Amino acid sequence: MDHEDLRHWSKRAADWTAEYHAGLRDRPVRAPLTPGAVASALPPAPPEAAEPMEAIWADFERLVPGAMTHWQHPRFFAYFPANAAPASMLAEQLVNAMACQGMIWQTSPAATEVEQVMVQWLRAALGLPEGFSGTIHDSATTATLSAVLTMREQALGWQGLAQGLPGAPRLRLYASEETHSSVDKAARLSGIGQENLVKVPTDAALSMRPGALAGAIEADRAAGFLPAGVILCAGGTSVGAFDHIADCIAAAKAEGLPVHVDAAWAGSAMICPEFRALWQGIEGADSIVFNPHKWLGVQFDCAVQFLRDPGPQVRTLGLRPSYLETAGREEIVNFNEWTVPLGRRFRALKLWFVLRAYGLEGLRARIRNHIAWAAEACEALRALPGVEIVTEPRLSLFTFALEDEAATMALLARINDEGRVYLTQTRHQGRYVIRVQVGQFDCTREDVMEIPAAVTRLM
Ligand code: PLP
Repeated sequence: MDHEDLRHWSKRAADWTAEYHAGLRDRPVRAPLTPGAVASALPPAPPEAAEPMEAIWADFERLVPGAMTHWQHPRFFAYFPANAAPASMLAEQLVNAMACQGMIWQTSPAATEVEQVMVQWLRAALGLPEGFSGTIHDSATTATLSAVLTMREQALGWQGLAQGLPGAPRLRLYASEETHSSVDKAARLSGIGQENLVKVPTDAALSMRPGALAGAIEADRAAGFLPAGVILCAGGTSVGAFDHIADCIAAAKAEGLPVHVDAAWAGSAMICPEFRALWQGIEGADSIVFNPHKWLGVQFDCAVQFLRDPGPQVRTLGLRPSYLETAGREEIVNFNEWTVPLGRRFRALKLWFVLRAYGLEGLRARIRNHIAWAAEACEALRALPGVEIVTEPRLSLFTFALEDEAATMALLARINDEGRVYLTQTRHQGRYVIRVQVGQFDCTREDVMEIPAAVTRLM
């Protein structure tokens, strides 16, 4: 296959894309669960001779779409969304065509500079003050790991990088139970250790108690630990919990600790000023991550980390061997020094396309609709005898259950086997609940109201 063939097949792929999306509502949302079905249909070894693209294409159509869970399906209400607006897909096609490496400014000046500008556009769109800069990671997990590694090094006076952790004081991190498992992963991978991630108690609203945070830090200091930083939750994965951001930041700052805020999902909603009260005080954070690849229509992968001062993170993660120098441009921003991997994709292009193609007003209208329709679906479910709303909507996320756990599990299985809508589960305070989030880029009110309709049909 050469580039002339690519021209032909790209057009075919564009037609396939349009038809796939137009037909999504007719497909079941979730793939049938038959482990091994796809793998067993593939030959055990790669071909020695080149194969015609017709054959490869035919196998794709035969084997792949029917075995996919359709994340762009308008009735996908599981997990969190991984939206891909058409403008984002288009930008990714162009990025694919250039297939660049944006590791340093000189390897792709446009990638670096569009990224710098997009971070500032988003900072303003989210209502964050001037002074924050930032970068784009593949995922919130990597951004949180970067923030935690930076906390570790700040606490150790940058000795961990040189000497490793043996002999270092025992570091402590603080987060609530409502934070995502990526925080646990960061504690583990940073060498700080799971046991040194202190889960600070929450109040009735599932928000970290600032007094409990202050008390935990003080008690740790008295016991000879070295507190390193606090990770706050702005829109938890399970049921959408928000910590008291302002008060927890004040408690952390009183102890001289840096704060990272995980707003991976809910950050997108902050383009709407009326939701910003949920993260009031955010301007005091040192680091904030949010995923445009969840709710903003910018397809995976795209996780933006805002940094009050990039210096400590660059000092922690940055290395500049001679083969990565740009002669005479020592001051230039090389984004690999802000992140874990060296190689970087040109992720900012899809942000640029999406923000322009829909405008902030278009994106706000979608998010406002999602939140309103989630509330409407929640009320319709509440009205059904036997259904209990277990956690009220936080933005567009709520949970419900039947009285009996086995019946709730069976209902979820029936809903997902039917395939009209796709929902997932979580455990809230030990109770198995069905989780509903509304956030598909082009879903309609009718799509969302299929949730209570499915429950009514299948309960
Ligand atoms: N933080 C929260 C609140 C999340 O919901 C998720 C994923 O759903 C993550 C972090 C991890 O995101 P990523 O897949 O970008 O690492």
